Amino acid sequence: MASEGPRALVAGNWKMNGSVAMLKEPRLLAAMLKDVKLKADVMVCPPAVLMRRVKSILKGSKIKLGGQDCHWAASGAHTGDVSAEMLKEAGCSAVIVGHSERRTNHGETDAIVQKKAKACQRAGLTAIICIGETLDERKAGSTLAVVTRQLKGSLPEGSVAANTVIAYEPVWAIGTGLTPTTAEVAEVHALIRAELAGLMGGEGAQTRILYGGSVKPSNAAELMGQPNVNGALVGGASLKAADFLGIIKVYA
Ligand code: PEP
Repeated sequence: MASEGPRALVAGNWKMNGSVAMLKEPRLLAAMLKDVKLKADVMVCPPAVLMRRVKSILKGSKIKLGGQDCHWAASGAHTGDVSAEMLKEAGCSAVIVGHSERRTNHGETDAIVQKKAKACQRAGLTAIICIGETLDERKAGSTLAVVTRQLKGSLPEGSVAANTVIAYEPVWAIGTGLTPTTAEVAEVHALIRAELAGLMGGEGAQTRILYGGSVKPSNAAELMGQPNVNGALVGGASLKAADFLGIIKVYA
């Protein structure tokens, strides 16, 4: 059973995966979801070069399109980057910012993530802001302090529920098959909810908090059933329509 709260979101992060051949998967997913009544929004976040094709496949379906990252500037001399405005024009309704792979591989700090989240909101997009501790941080007992610091540092001032989603993704759970216990997930999500109330006032209660990290059909119901878990950010299991559907069905 999914937990109560704001309407859930299940977002699939393809990362640097995908090809023209793989486009059969969103096509399949759209067909499978056609007559399913869902209590959640569904989103796929493909690599930027596939955006146009995925958008046309998803036309008329209930599946939304999201980006995986953006620059904070609207345009300019930033070779290789895409702006939030470009993603908006390409049909996205949200963008993932601050994913741990960006923080680790590209040195993105909370201040950078905050600028990117602000850019998403400026462009009329929802910022899906990722936060989460490393294994060393968890072992050191600093999970709650790290998550609080990242949340405060990455959330733009003036954020509202309509343009903000928080994704709690323990770094050690991403792509490893490991997940926190349900009690650990509930503890961190309760902390995030309480911090959001302080940072966003009444909007905090309406802001979606996703769990991400090795979510699959076999553990989705249990994880999504925890209080203050309002959906999932899914990596590996979003690449195959059948697996992704198995997760989405928690909200059917
Ligand atoms: C992610 O990278 O956002 C993620 C949750 O990956 P996975 O589901 O593969 O652990």
